[in-house]
Amino acid sequence: MSNDNILLTHIPESKEKYLNMMSETVKAVSDVFVDDSAYSGTTPWDLHEVVHQDSILPEEGLGWEETLNKIKEQILPYLLRTSSSDYMAHLHGPSLLETLAGEVVISAFNQSMDSWDQSPVATEVELEVIRHLCRLYGYNKSADGVFTSGGSQSNQTAITLARDWFCNRILKHDVQKKGLPDNFHKLRMYVSEISHFSMEQSAHLLGLGYEAVVHVPVDSKKRMDVTALRQLIKEDKEKGNIPFLIAATAGTTDYGSIDPIKELVKIGIADNMWIHADAAYGSGVVMSDKYRDRIKDLSLCDSITVDFHKMFLMPISCSVVLLKKGSDFDVLTFHANYLNRIEDEADGYTNLVNKSLQTTRRFDALKVWLSFQMRGQDGWNKLINTSMENAQYLYSLLVHDKSFQVVTEPEISSVVFRYVGDDPERADEINRRVRRLLMHKHGVVIGQTTDEDNIFLKFTLLNPLITHKKLDDLVTLIKFLAENLPESDEE
Ligand SMILES: *Cc1c(COP(=O)(O)O)cnc(C)c1O
Repeated sequence: MSNDNILLTHIPESKEKYLNMMSETVKAVSDVFVDDSAYSGTTPWDLHEVVHQDSILPEEGLGWEETLNKIKEQILPYLLRTSSSDYMAHLHGPSLLETLAGEVVISAFNQSMDSWDQSPVATEVELEVIRHLCRLYGYNKSADGVFTSGGSQSNQTAITLARDWFCNRILKHDVQKKGLPDNFHKLRMYVSEISHFSMEQSAHLLGLGYEAVVHVPVDSKKRMDVTALRQLIKEDKEKGNIPFLIAATAGTTDYGSIDPIKELVKIGIADNMWIHADAAYGSGVVMSDKYRDRIKDLSLCDSITVDFHKMFLMPISCSVVLLKKGSDFDVLTFHANYLNRIEDEADGYTNLVNKSLQTTRRFDALKVWLSFQMRGQDGWNKLINTSMENAQYLYSLLVHDKSFQVVTEPEISSVVFRYVGDDPERADEINRRVRRLLMHKHGVVIGQTTDEDNIFLKFTLLNPLITHKKLDDLVTLIKFLAENLPESDEE
């Protein structure tokens, strides 16, 4: 193969090749959508056979056509079709069509968001999008934010800044220069017992360790129990521990429950703590005219995690961390002469790496810019309301059926339930097997979790194309499978 036209350039033959390769790929992708099922059902051991080959680096290249055929045969049919309304396992949604178009621009131009000279207009677009997002979540002009790889990195950024702010301002110790203070093992952060595991992971990476993370019990609605929080902080202070952070969850990963942010903020302020809101899931509720009030107190927090690759239906990655006081980002800035020179800023060139844990970084802001403008407030309002109202519908369906047990009424768009039937002893085994059967025999992919050591099933209803009829049919199917389980799953 010659090296002519290996890149997209001004040369007409190169453009033609780009257009051909792209359209053949797009056609192959759309051909895979033959029915509404989410998955081919193939087992891991069968997939091992499908993908196994002696070498993926042949002596001589296969060329485009043959390689495309291999993708069509070995990969595309077995991918999870996340836009299917039979897919509702995780906070991992379908991607809106306009954001797929956005990805074409993002990958073709491959801008890198670390320095202005690697992403001129893209930097200005990210700044503009961040400015509007700060306003959307109720922050004022001193706020700032940055796009990240996801909720986990947004949380880690916020917790890093919380630790540094607390050590600098309250303990008068400069972590950036000197590392952790001598009494670092006394620092404590408070999260609900059902918060996301990135809290523990961040505590570990920040040198504080899992023991710095205090798990506060939740009430019957799966929200952080404020009385328990007060008590835990009091006990910690008596033991000489140092509370520095409360991380509220606005939309827990399993239940979508929203912690009582206003009360948590009051407690935090009284003790000079940073208040972070992990709204990786719940941030989408801001688009709903009807339900927005449920998360209005996010604006009281020092930092907010927002994920666009969950409720907002955008391709991975797309997430931001917002700060009430943008200058708190300063501790992340390190000037490198080859990248983000000090004089650049004075001359009006913004280098976004100054706020980021990542260096090379995608132009994900384009997807938000594009999709917000295309759909407008009205379009977004409808998408989010549909998903929240589907959860209400499913909840009422299950709660009125004695064969099922539901953990709690949904506040956003997830419903956690189990089939109980008339033999509660067997319920764990039945629910586990029903989920596997749905995946491998029916192409339906739903979630599984535990509550009080019992196995539960989960519908995460992000997809606005899910209808009430679909939910009726799936509940009927689950009941049928539970009552007619084969002797073994292999038949
Ligand atoms: C999904 C989720 C995260 C992690 O976000 P990623 O984008 O997967 O890194 C953090 N917190 C909560 C509450 C989540 O639901």
